[in-house]
Amino acid sequence: MGKAKDFIQRSLVVCKPDAVQRGIVGEILQRFERVGLKIVGMKMVMPGEDQYKEHYEGIGQMITRRGEQAFRYNVDYMLSGPVIAIVLEGVEAVPLVRKIVGSTEPKAADMGTIRGDFAHMSFGYSDAKQVGVPNLVHASGSPEEAKKEIKLWFTPEELYDYSDLNEKYTR
Ligand code: ADP
Repeated sequence: MGKAKDFIQRSLVVCKPDAVQRGIVGEILQRFERVGLKIVGMKMVMPGEDQYKEHYEGIGQMITRRGEQAFRYNVDYMLSGPVIAIVLEGVEAVPLVRKIVGSTEPKAADMGTIRGDFAHMSFGYSDAKQVGVPNLVHASGSPEEAKKEIKLWFTPEELYDYSDLNEKYTR
């Protein structure tokens, strides 16, 4: 049996350019807040190609998993506008956030998830159109990736330790 504090994780969420441009950042954020996840960092940014290459390949190994072409389309999609970067904290927050976000392809994402409820794009269509799959949100895939991603996107001064009122019940 581990110590309780070892179950507390932080996850990086990025509301992607399509979420910002569609004006649904508030609705997305609400889904994380209502399960009791705590916002410990948040900002609007427009990272350059180097940061996205580090994020998706250096850390996420996307070329190995999805191929060079999907990687290129995805980087171009992410470069198409500003994004909202958020760090969420909570009990086993990494898998919890992934559950709330849903699977990568919106067509296949369960209803009730962000990608399933707010998008409908398929891999086939985006490949034919030669674009990244606009699926609204990035969420860290594992606690190890989350640590690396948070370090890439946020300085220590941009992250806050505080108690929120949910914690009595959600921790
Ligand atoms: P996830 O974001 O669900 O962890 P991946 O890390 O595999 O998924 O891919 C990163 C992002 O690249 C996806 O969220 C999606 O926007 C885009 N993407 C994934 N596969 C493809 C593909 N075959 N064609 C175009 N874009 C893709």
